[in-house]
Amino acid sequence: MRFVSTEGRTPPADLRTAVLGGLAPDGGLYLPERIEPLARGELLALRGRSLPEIALALAPRLLGPAVTGDALREIVRGALDFPTPLVRLRTNAGMGPTFVLELFHGPSFAFKDVGVRFMAHLITALREPAAEPLTLLTATSGDTGGAVAQAFRRIPGARAVILFPDGQVPELQRRLFTTAGPNVIAAAVEGTFDDCQRLVQEALRRAPPGRLTTANSINVGRLLPQVFYYVYAWAHLPEAGGPLVVSVPSGNFGNLTAGVVAKRLGVPVAMFVAATNVNDAVPVYLETGRFAPRPAVPTISSAMDVGNPSNFRRLLALYEGDRARMRAEIAGTSHTDEAARAAIAALFAREGYVMEPHTAVACLGLETATRSIGRRTGVALATAHPAKLREIVEPIIGAPVPLPAALAALRDAEERIVRIAPRYEALAEILA
Ligand SMILES: *Cc1c(COP(=O)(O)O)cnc(C)c1O
Repeated sequence: MRFVSTEGRTPPADLRTAVLGGLAPDGGLYLPERIEPLARGELLALRGRSLPEIALALAPRLLGPAVTGDALREIVRGALDFPTPLVRLRTNAGMGPTFVLELFHGPSFAFKDVGVRFMAHLITALREPAAEPLTLLTATSGDTGGAVAQAFRRIPGARAVILFPDGQVPELQRRLFTTAGPNVIAAAVEGTFDDCQRLVQEALRRAPPGRLTTANSINVGRLLPQVFYYVYAWAHLPEAGGPLVVSVPSGNFGNLTAGVVAKRLGVPVAMFVAATNVNDAVPVYLETGRFAPRPAVPTISSAMDVGNPSNFRRLLALYEGDRARMRAEIAGTSHTDEAARAAIAALFAREGYVMEPHTAVACLGLETATRSIGRRTGVALATAHPAKLREIVEPIIGAPVPLPAALAALRDAEERIVRIAPRYEALAEILA
């Protein structure tokens, strides 16, 4: 398998170059050169299988021959070591059977654990044992930092540098990456998430090869493992569900991009919903054809406060820039904080299910899309544990949200943070 840049100005790379490099030399994002669809029998053979089994079956097709056999089993065992239950909700009026895929039972209590943990173990498998130490540079608006810190704190020969917008990450989320030990450096940037993201891309462009990479979803090694749970969701739906609608709460659009790859493999998704909060650059593009990145607006679903989603370039590449084709497969919706709060309250009142604001945006997206495309089996991706955002959730539902023990323990851990200006020179000092 070779990986091509979305900018098309560098030759295709192998898996090791793509994962350890992060960004392509021309500034583009890597994608697999070809996505070979599964034969119908191969797809059906995955019905009812576990997430690790699905990963083992599909990884060779997505990643190529660089990791196979025992090495691949080792990666899958280390990375996908938590459940991802598909929970059925009681049907609301006008909706088809509705499911929530809970992707938040990993160590950082967010779906990002899937991609990041897989990538951490993949990097270990791909590196030469005697290689120079590797720095994983990551921008986070909340959840990526925790997933990266928890995945890399014990990976030998690697350290993580995590950039986050100062004062804009809720405390528990922040503590997941500011208390993770000496292997993880947390840098508070005086600016927005988009500033953090820009700094990462600049540092990657300037770094000598092999020393610096990124754990943001611009890294193809993190993007592709997310394909597995779309297949898993389909494989665990009741029989005869028909084509699916899958609603993806989106910020940087790595998750949705992985969904599109899953569909190309053959998962019968009739429609994706690109559900955003008011940071709606992609829904606006789908509607008008104009992609106008803007500074991010803060919301209660802060992990989706992205004004300039980096994976948009991958979506454009996958659809060859054809908006009509994209619109045939992706519906864009955007939702206010007020609507998210109301959805959380309503679902709790109706059936006692507790969700947090990102998942609420996905559920709202599903409802909105159902109104225009009709009743279908729907899956909303639940991307964060409600306890992780309990300061927001508890007042809405008027009930306590118990804190899992691993999150409770963070409250007493000592935080280590360095503050930097939103300039490359300031970051370079940390990296040196
Ligand atoms: C990161 C994140 C998202 C957005 O995912 P993208 O792949 O960036 O679109 C949604 N929900 C939660 C909880 C997240 O942490």
